Amino acid sequence: SPKKDRLGVALVGLGYYSTDLIAPALQLTKNCYLAGIVTGTPSKAETWAKKYNIPEKNVYNYQNFDKIADNPDIDVVYVILPPSMHREYVIRAAKAGKHVWVEKPMAMTEKECQDMINACKQNKRSLAVGYRLQHEPNTQEYIKFLRDGKIGKIKMVSCSAGYNDNRTTHWKQKKEMGGGVMYDMGVYVLQGARLATGEEPISVTAQQYTTRPEIYKNGLDETTMAQLVFPSGARAAVQTSFGINMNFLHVTGEKGFLKMEPYSAYNGQTGEASGGVKIKHPYDVPRQQAMQMDDDADAIMNNKPLIAPGEEGLRDIRIVEAIYRAAKSGQSVKL
Ligand code: NDP
Repeated sequence: SPKKDRLGVALVGLGYYSTDLIAPALQLTKNCYLAGIVTGTPSKAETWAKKYNIPEKNVYNYQNFDKIADNPDIDVVYVILPPSMHREYVIRAAKAGKHVWVEKPMAMTEKECQDMINACKQNKRSLAVGYRLQHEPNTQEYIKFLRDGKIGKIKMVSCSAGYNDNRTTHWKQKKEMGGGVMYDMGVYVLQGARLATGEEPISVTAQQYTTRPEIYKNGLDETTMAQLVFPSGARAAVQTSFGINMNFLHVTGEKGFLKMEPYSAYNGQTGEASGGVKIKHPYDVPRQQAMQMDDDADAIMNNKPLIAPGEEGLRDIRIVEAIYRAAKSGQSVKL
C-alpha cells in the first residue's frame, strides 16, 4: 500500500476520555486524524459523525467491528473501553490488521497483556499504551535529569495520585470491569516509581483501606499504599486513592532532590530540583494527548521504536497484581 503522510485512527468506546480529550486532541495532531468510530450507542454515532465529519462507512458497532479489516481509511484502532474489555478489542483489532493503541490500565492481568502483545506480534502490528505522560515534556525532562545523575544515586521515591471519585455504579467501582484504584490511578504512581529509579521492583508490600465500605468491598480498593524495593536498594512508597486529592512525585538522591507537583495532570506539570532547577514547559489541554498520538503515529510510519509499547503496560500490570496479592496476604510479594 502507498505510504501515507497521516494515519487514520478509529476510536473504540466513546465515553469521557474519547469525548473530552482524545477526539479534541485529534484535531491538533499532524501525523494522524480521527477517521472512524466504534460505539455501542447509536445516538453517539450520529452526533460524532456530524461533529467530526466521519463518513458512514467508517462507523462501526461492537458486532460489526471486525469488518474494519476491509477499511483502508483506518490504520490504527485506539481502544478506550473499560479495562476488562481491552484484551478482546486489542486482539480483534490486531486480527483485523490494524495497529493498536490501548488506554491504561493495559488489562487486568499480566497474562492478558501478554496475549495482546502476542496477537499484535503475530499480525505484525504495533501496540502502544496510552501513557500520555511519557510523551510530556516536563516528564521527559525530569527523567533525563535523574538519568544524567544530577542528584546521584536514587535512594527514595514517594509518588501519589488520587482524586475524589463520587460515583458508585461506574465501572471504576466494579471489580469485574477493571475497577479499583490500584488499576486506575495506581499505574501512574508505579510509572512514577519506575521512571524515577529506572529500575523494576523486586518485591512489594501493600495496604488497602476505605472510608466507604458500602461501595469499596470484595477486593475493590478505594485507597492503596504500597512499598517497592528495587535492585539498587532504592525504595519507593506509592499512594493512590479515589477518596483523596493528591498528585506529586518526590525523589531523594544521594546528592539532592527532585519534586514534581502536579505530577500526572493533563497540564501544568511543574518541577523543582536541587541546584535551583525549575521544570515547567506550559501547554494547553489536550496538547499532551496530541503529542502522544503524533509520537505513536510517527513511530508507525517511520519504523521507530514506540515510547510506551505493550511491554511497558505489562510491566505495570504485573506489579499491580503483586500489590493486590501483598495487600490481601499482608506479606511481602516477590516479583
Ligand atoms: P467511560 O465510562 O466514560 O467510557 C467508557 C465507554 O466504553 C462507554 O461510554 C461506552 O462507549 C463503552 N462501553 C462499552 N461497553 C461498556 C460497558 N459494559 N460498560 C461501560 N462502558 C462500556 O470511561 P473513560 O472514558 O473514563 O475510560 C475509558 C478508558 O480510558 C479506561 O481504560 C480509562 O482508564 C482510560 N482513561 C485514561 C485517561 C488518561 O489520562 N490516559 C483518562 C481517563 C480515562 P459507547 O457508548 O461508545 O459504546
